[in-house]
Amino acid sequence: PKPLATRIALVTGAASGIGKAIATRLAAEGACVVIADLDLEKAQAAAAEIGSTDVAVGVQANVVDEGQVQASVDAALLAFGGLDIVVNNAGLSLSKSLLETTVADWDLQHNVMAKGSFLVSRAAARALIDQKLGGDIIYISSKNSVFAGPNNIAYSATKADQAHQVRLLAAELGEHGVKVNGINPDGVVRGSGIFAGGWGAKRAAVYGVPEEELGAYYAQRTLLKREVLPENVANAVFVLCSSDLSHTTGLHIPVDAGVAAA
Ligand code: NAD
Repeated sequence: PKPLATRIALVTGAASGIGKAIATRLAAEGACVVIADLDLEKAQAAAAEIGSTDVAVGVQANVVDEGQVQASVDAALLAFGGLDIVVNNAGLSLSKSLLETTVADWDLQHNVMAKGSFLVSRAAARALIDQKLGGDIIYISSKNSVFAGPNNIAYSATKADQAHQVRLLAAELGEHGVKVNGINPDGVVRGSGIFAGGWGAKRAAVYGVPEEELGAYYAQRTLLKREVLPENVANAVFVLCSSDLSHTTGLHIPVDAGVAAA
């Protein structure tokens, strides 16, 4: 594979949290990055924080919109002349129980994460196959794709959908040299818009801890007793894209500081 320092990455939902940390890390390794997000101003601000338009550009892209997804792939080709790494990171969590979940909630979760990552992977795969240089597609799935927890049925089901997309696409794109892997984070409270936007308050209420102590609460539940930060997820993306992991596809890496057997 091409060295990371010469590669071009598209990261969805990268105006905030984990996605922004991923884009920052890839750029620090010398890659050029397209930051695609619902919010253009925030995407452009994140790109400007990372560097000049020679290394980072922000674009508006709702991953549910086929045309906007194609435009974000085209932005990588236009701005930087190619595409090598695609990170399906855009997401949201409504954090509702089965009885609270409406059909609209179900559709929103599945549209953004299952359909959105399908659209991004499909548009990206066309570009990667055309280039004949291989590449990486990485899904930021979740511990919830594997472990069941209460009060987030639609979120967890769609994360499991993403996990199966990883396996299916690894099988389908392998012959083109495209590796497809996933990362299962958990408890990334600091910097996460999902946690700040209401999920944190709900989880804190469920666990009976003050919201500002939620990060520490998650940390003490882990095997390593460590809080998981956006940078830890970004490190795993770096490892998956590095030439040292050139023979790994269809894998999910947990970034959760260790989950105790229940
Ligand atoms: P975040 O809210 O900080 O980042 C999510 C980003 O996605 C935001 O910038 C948002 O604008 C963008 N987004 C939402 N809907 C979009 C759409 N339709 N099109 C394009 N962009 C859209 O949250 P985060 O915690 O950094 O989450 C990033 C990813 O990591 C999500 O997929 C989430 O499910 C996953 N994840 C997070 C945790 C955690 O503990 N924070 C754990 C497991 C998985």
